Amino acid sequence: MMTRKSNKVYVIISGDIDYSEHHRHSDKLMIFDQILNTANDLNIKLSFYFTAKEAVKIENCIKLLADSGHEIGCHGLIHNDDEEYNRLSYEKQFQYITEATNILTKIINKDISSFRAPRVKVSSHMYKVIEKLGYLTDSSICSQRMDLVSSNMFNKDWLFAPRLPYNPSPSNPFEKGNSKVLIVPVSALCIPFISSVLYVFGLTFMKILFSVFYLESLLTGKPIVYLYHPYEFIPEIRGKKKYSSNLKVHGFRWRRHLYRGTPQDKLERHIKLWKYMKSFKAVEIVTMKQFYYLNKARGA
Ligand SMILES: [Zn+2]
Repeated sequence: MMTRKSNKVYVIISGDIDYSEHHRHSDKLMIFDQILNTANDLNIKLSFYFTAKEAVKIENCIKLLADSGHEIGCHGLIHNDDEEYNRLSYEKQFQYITEATNILTKIINKDISSFRAPRVKVSSHMYKVIEKLGYLTDSSICSQRMDLVSSNMFNKDWLFAPRLPYNPSPSNPFEKGNSKVLIVPVSALCIPFISSVLYVFGLTFMKILFSVFYLESLLTGKPIVYLYHPYEFIPEIRGKKKYSSNLKVHGFRWRRHLYRGTPQDKLERHIKLWKYMKSFKAVEIVTMKQFYYLNKARGA
């Protein structure tokens, strides 16, 4: 599916919520409250991808987000080392994603239509599963991303994946085809448009990166997809986090030491970035599901 030139620049701000035992429950509730207030102040709608096992612990938060018009998507069931959609069998993937979808649907009492795989690892099996379960979009692929600040650093497929939203081939998710799910890639220009880049390179750098995506979007209609983690805005409980030594699962551990700033500082930098993005004339910040229908309506 091609996206055509349009006078609007659609921006999707997407937050991934992984399973966590290394953040305090009260902090989790507090941060969603703050994010909700920020979204109200800026009058924007956000997209959240929840890991189902985490979602059940903060059900009321999720209901409130959904009732306020923000989108709740699925970010897998457990987000542990086993749940990797680039290598599990079809049956196992079907079992995991079905369970996760059921849990999230039950919490918000609405269909879940957007998916992002844990650690953004995908396969043709995964796309068959989410298509079967009625998902409309997936945003796991980060086309033309090329860096080491990733837990997916061994993925060469991203370099050649289509840049605009596309329907994947049933046999290769990194090529165009006739699968129903629309892949909406996370924005990247070698460097991905994600929060860890904001922490390492700073706000000015992110503003420049955004401006480039903005110009591109005016020319091609490509939506801009930003990725962050709400829990980055709250402190970790010291010594609680278990680090896997598996390089293939988690990427380079040293990348953590590159990140700068306190949790509160990270939130403030995000608010500034979101305000900046919103200040562009053609920008409309929408949820992933809204984008899906807007994209369809413009005859893409
Ligand atoms: Zn995640």
